[in-house]
Amino acid sequence: MGSKRIWISTEPEDPLKDPSSTSCSTLVLPPSFQITCLLSGFCNMVLWVVILMDRFFGRLSRSLRLSSDEIARLRNQDTKNLLRNKKLYLILDLDHTLLNSTPLTHITPEEEHITGRQDAYEGSLFVLEHMHTMTKLRPFVRTFLKKASEIFEMYIYTMGDRSYAHEMAKILDPNREYFDSRVISRDDGTQRNQKGLDVVLGQENCVLILDDTKKAWTKHKDNLILIDRYHFFASSCQQFGLSCKSLSQLEMDESEGGGALATIIGVLKRIHTIFFQVFCAFSN
Ligand SMILES: [Mg+2]
Repeated sequence: MGSKRIWISTEPEDPLKDPSSTSCSTLVLPPSFQITCLLSGFCNMVLWVVILMDRFFGRLSRSLRLSSDEIARLRNQDTKNLLRNKKLYLILDLDHTLLNSTPLTHITPEEEHITGRQDAYEGSLFVLEHMHTMTKLRPFVRTFLKKASEIFEMYIYTMGDRSYAHEMAKILDPNREYFDSRVISRDDGTQRNQKGLDVVLGQENCVLILDDTKKAWTKHKDNLILIDRYHFFASSCQQFGLSCKSLSQLEMDESEGGGALATIIGVLKRIHTIFFQVFCAFSN
């Protein structure tokens, strides 16, 4: 017994419209499978499953292509609107840039003094029992976000997972004034162990990145401002192979007005000013 040919259209709109059409392809079933199909009536079901899959994946593929065009259009539009409001994009890393987190189990005896003394840190120390994590905000971070939001549209972009990213966003921005839904985690990225601007709704030449890790941004080094790492917890020093004591072990912290974020906000303002001086000069 020879193989039976089943005609399957590659056009998702009407796959069975014209079996003799040149736009059709063939699916060849082995004889044993044909017998089974004839006896059980299973063949029609298989055929429709194949057709539905063809329809689904065909449409999915086309919709993805449309989405790329649409994303490009939205990216242009969003950037134009932002420039009209004299703002640029600012991508902010979390760990060691805006804050420092540690698993509760990694707190050393020398750091025990901080547990139960959250009030001493004036709303900058958080115990997240459900995540078994303690988080310390970097000094000046709240002022930094307020000032930066005046001249930037800000994103959080972390290599942490989505639940961690959103928990940190809640701590940094409890009233959703600064980030809204612009929170990107490693679960949203398109490359493993890399951060990319393809998931940011803004043109690359209008984006600044603030991060402590250069190797995360291999494709966007020109956009990157590297910041000194914030090592509040001892586990953070250990993570980077540092033999020095952490700030918590030393019972101290970065200066509120003279720390890294306070310095960086001045740099960001200067870049913003220069950008719009040049932009206005070319626009007129
Ligand atoms: Mg980092």
